[in-house]
Amino acid sequence: MILSHAHVDHVGALDRLNEIGMPPVYASARTFHGLPDGYRPKNAHILPEPNAEKPTCWA
Ligand SMILES: [Zn+2]
Repeated sequence: MILSHAHVDHVGALDRLNEIGMPPVYASARTFHGLPDGYRPKNAHILPEPNAEKPTCWA
């Protein structure tokens, strides 16, 4: 699972990863640390963020 950003409408079900077999989660450090408390998976992999000045959400 790749998290592009930490808006709760996109990541609000992270507390239910166990229901789909705990897939690996990938996110930039900024996205990972922006997750609500209790929603940071222990199996997350931090991705490099080449240009932190660009917005991460276009919606
Ligand atoms: Zn969004």
